[in-house]
Amino acid sequence: MKSLNELTFTEARRLLKSGDVSSVDVTKACLKQIASLNGALNVFLEVYEDEALEAADRSDARRLDGKTLGPLDGLPIALKDNILYQGRRCTSGSKILESYIAPCDATVTRKLKEGGAVILGKTNMDEFAMGSSTEYSAYGATKHPRDPERVPGGSSGGSAAAVASSMCLAALGSDTGGSIRQPAAFCGVVGLKPTYGRVSRSGLVAMASSLDQIGPLTKNVEDAATLLELLQGVDSADQTTAIEEDFTAIEREDLKGVKIGLPRQAWGNGISDGVREDTEQAIKDLESLGATITEIDLPFAEESLAVYYVLMPCEVSANLSRFDGMRYGLRMQNLPLFETYAASRAHGLGTEVKRRILLGTFALSRGYYDAYYVQAKKVQTLIKRAYESAFQEIDIIVTPTAPTTAFKIGEKTNDPLEMYLEDIFTVGANVAGLPAVSLPCGNHEGLPVGLQFIGNWFREDKLLSVAGAYEKFVAMRPRI
Ligand code: GLN
Repeated sequence: MKSLNELTFTEARRLLKSGDVSSVDVTKACLKQIASLNGALNVFLEVYEDEALEAADRSDARRLDGKTLGPLDGLPIALKDNILYQGRRCTSGSKILESYIAPCDATVTRKLKEGGAVILGKTNMDEFAMGSSTEYSAYGATKHPRDPERVPGGSSGGSAAAVASSMCLAALGSDTGGSIRQPAAFCGVVGLKPTYGRVSRSGLVAMASSLDQIGPLTKNVEDAATLLELLQGVDSADQTTAIEEDFTAIEREDLKGVKIGLPRQAWGNGISDGVREDTEQAIKDLESLGATITEIDLPFAEESLAVYYVLMPCEVSANLSRFDGMRYGLRMQNLPLFETYAASRAHGLGTEVKRRILLGTFALSRGYYDAYYVQAKKVQTLIKRAYESAFQEIDIIVTPTAPTTAFKIGEKTNDPLEMYLEDIFTVGANVAGLPAVSLPCGNHEGLPVGLQFIGNWFREDKLLSVAGAYEKFVAMRPRI
């Protein structure tokens, strides 16, 4: 039998409803798991033990009193540390925000609270969400739950490791270029990046505002759908939230009539043998479920990585200019004004963050702006059009999530380009604003392999129904 911290939402809800188990029991099981593993894995930056138990207790009381319950009532969840939770520290993995206390809740935090969730704590991440391994956190690297010599992926590595090691039932992460999906793939959990505009970014520490989305990391597709139903929606505090039809989960048993596109570009060099093998198997599985698979061309898709690594640093350089020692967090004292700015930034920000600020400042500077930023924006339009025309023929695109399985700690930290190549399959969905999900499709040498599905704009219903059918099929396959 599973222990309580290992349950999915559906399983936990059933037990809570039956009265055999209380939210306090489930929360205690998660806290116990955190206490036994966090020292070794460095997954949580902060744990709100007392508050979580109080919230669980309140949920139990609501249930006993027959009050209306929220969709996540009594279920313990973790937040990536770039999501504001009023009155708690929000470091975004950076030293510059070590003492920063959130003045309000992010919209998603408020929605979780209103939905009855029990917030357990904040998870580790690459500084300001820049990275693919969680090694760039100012608070030390997070370790992969299956092999502590490896990374859990990033930047939402803490959230992925927390779900994979059952320290919580689910977690929230953020995805600007793959930061939910790639760690989900590395850790063997489900990670969903919603369509840009589906979920409010208000209260998310901004990395690249035109690409950032908050999304769930969960144990299965159904739980990701539950969270998306709760978190979505127009928000006056984020003018990029879109008035589209609300997402409602649908289920399907097979994939008859579903047209899946396989981009030729997804099979280039750089994919490890294990990832290739498992993805090929996944494609066979999709066919046996009744889907038709066609190879498609996505012109300019290969340029997604280049476009991303121009646009993202430009936005980073603008967004992070607010961290100058004046208003937020760390301030170097007793210096003249400009030296205070410089010293606070020099001292408070890490190397990778500085690299991106410099790149972005350069790309936006006079004389280079047209050649880099404007050019990248033009290619972004071409990429969007390529997806648009692909989705006239097909329903879903399938690719590996990442070119490799979890790599060794230290393996890529000295080679930023190698680290950036981790994002080759994920950035396209951010550059185009499309929804995409990663889910486990196999194991190679004991490490999980992730499969990515990309859906049409605001068609998370179709995306998750296909992912759900595939997930059920894979669960029946003995080798997982
Ligand atoms: N790995 C990517 C980067 O370093 C993605 C980060 C993210 O999605 N936040 O930019």
